[in-house]
Amino acid sequence: NRERILQSERLNVVSELAASVSHEIRNPLTVTSGFLQLLSKSTTITPQEKGYVDLSLLELNRAEKIVTDYLSLAKPQSENMVYANLQAEAEYTKDIITPYAIIHKVEVEYSFNNTLNKNYDKNQIQQCFINLYKNGIEAMKEKGGGTLSITISERKQNIIIRIGDTGIGMTKEEISRLGKPYYSTKEEGTGLGMLMVYSTVNKVKGVIEVESEKGKGTTFTITIPAS
Ligand code: ADP
Ligand code: MG
Repeated sequence: NRERILQSERLNVVSELAASVSHEIRNPLTVTSGFLQLLSKSTTITPQEKGYVDLSLLELNRAEKIVTDYLSLAKPQSENMVYANLQAEAEYTKDIITPYAIIHKVEVEYSFNNTLNKNYDKNQIQQCFINLYKNGIEAMKEKGGGTLSITISERKQNIIIRIGDTGIGMTKEEISRLGKPYYSTKEEGTGLGMLMVYSTVNKVKGVIEVESEKGKGTTFTITIPAS
């Protein structure tokens, strides 16, 4: 059941959705969550009140997750535009997710080999890598671990990014739903991560190819023309 499909166009909905969730939500969430944590540790609140506070913290945590998966979508592209080697972003975000990988017994392998430059939005590309890495790691969670492999190379005037995992894999049907808003098979999933990925790759005129085998793993290949 090996599936291979090409998806480049998914999202015009994105801009509409993006308007509703914004980067600026993050700060008030963090502040509120901080005060609630203090309140939760108070010695004078009743157990019932503490229950309310803790529930509020859980809900704030959920809102935070949505913003995290969705963060860069809402940001105007011009703000963080660079002309650079996006391999730097892949490496930076690899370091960021390393603790998450370790917790889930995932080994991270990488080989970076690209000299081509590209015009891109730094935040968006970073978020895109994080979302793909996170999904890979989460797909290996219930298998008790595995390997996340990241390679970046170049072919002709294209930058080729490959992100592979040895996780649970997807059926053809599941692959076809990738990137649809709120499609998630996870208990605590937002279903916004892949939406963000498709939207970002689309903006840099890239193409995403998904190869997956149920039970074996998944590889995303992203081909982006150099600028
Ligand atoms: P979320 O991670 O919050 O569920 P995403 O948009 O990031 O939302 O992913 C949507 C769904 O696509 C996931 O719930 C999962 O079912 C599937 N998926 C994405 N990446 C992978 C992967 N590497 N391996 C298996 N399934 C995946
Ligand atoms: Mg995700």
